[in-house]
Amino acid sequence: MDIRETSSGQLLEFFRQNNEKPFRIKQLHDWLWKKNVFSFEEMINFPKTLQEKLKMNFTFKRTLIEKEVESSDKTFKFLFRLFDDVIIEGVLIPSQGRVTACLSTQAGCVLKCVFCATGKLGFTRNLHFWEIIDQFVLMNRRAIEVFGSRISNIVLMGMGEPLLNYDSVFKAVEVLTSPNGNGLSPSRITLSTVGITAGIRKLADDNFKANLAVSLHCGDNLKRSVLIPVNQSNPVQELQDALGYYVEKTKQRITIEYVLLQNVNDSLEDADKLCRFCKAFPVKINIIEYNDTGSVYKPSTLERKAAFTNRLESKNLIVNVRQSRGKDIAAACGQLTGKMAVHNYIVS
Ligand code: SAH
Repeated sequence: MDIRETSSGQLLEFFRQNNEKPFRIKQLHDWLWKKNVFSFEEMINFPKTLQEKLKMNFTFKRTLIEKEVESSDKTFKFLFRLFDDVIIEGVLIPSQGRVTACLSTQAGCVLKCVFCATGKLGFTRNLHFWEIIDQFVLMNRRAIEVFGSRISNIVLMGMGEPLLNYDSVFKAVEVLTSPNGNGLSPSRITLSTVGITAGIRKLADDNFKANLAVSLHCGDNLKRSVLIPVNQSNPVQELQDALGYYVEKTKQRITIEYVLLQNVNDSLEDADKLCRFCKAFPVKINIIEYNDTGSVYKPSTLERKAAFTNRLESKNLIVNVRQSRGKDIAAACGQLTGKMAVHNYIVS
């Protein structure tokens, strides 16, 4: 069994059987979740004999940085090699006083949203909760080295759909925000979902404390099913109901993400449908620039984008227009594909 998969009961039993004092459990916990070491040898307040015993009884699977690429706008894309040689990606994005880490929650993705590059890769596997945390830990060390500051914000917007790996994602957020773990404020973490309605309701029931963002991209049910196939089983009306439930329970404002695709979802009629979707609860809308991934879609023109945004603002909605980052290193939204990164690795 891997040390980071053990329950406190199992650890208690192990330490008891080996005649070790129970306070060692707290020390072990701190090494794993506060100091984030990657080996038993680094647990330097443990006697060698205890380190050996741990080594004989548990594995310690670890994640490595395989490759790092820097973009002209100081965004860094990381390629991580997991213990079983699966490759995933994470991104570090510095911006006015912040350093945001974008973490993957799955290797690949099952959703196959038509505009997204990750979907084209297919799905390899879910990440363990500690593999989500490893991305944070490894990028945090680099953030301190290259930017002189720690990661301040986390977005779960990398490869995969967080709510289709619910337990690992929930646990990772718990550890990242625990005072006995990384101690980040939940208000600085955002989970982005395609809109898995059962998962959204479960988050509400589980009293999820971080921010929730939903990749709506279209308020029209039929059209959304074409862009985002999982909409067929999670239709717009049910998504709206689930978000209503979430807001009622958590009293939190939701972020709606909307990628503008030219002549597809960027008309004034589309804006009105988006307004109708948002009527039922408090939201903030992020308009996202489409990053070309070689699909048939194109980003909206500046004029259409302005008209769309104005229409939303005229209905008193809060709108942010998001600038894309890291495009030259394929680190922008929807451009994360382990395959492409491996290719970069081979040619560079
Ligand atoms: N599965 C989750 C999180 C990963 S995708 C979700 O759907 O929210 C992160 C965001 O990038 C989503 O809003 C997704 O729709 C968006 N995205 C995907 N491909 C994109 C592209 N080519 N250009 C801009 N945004 C894209």
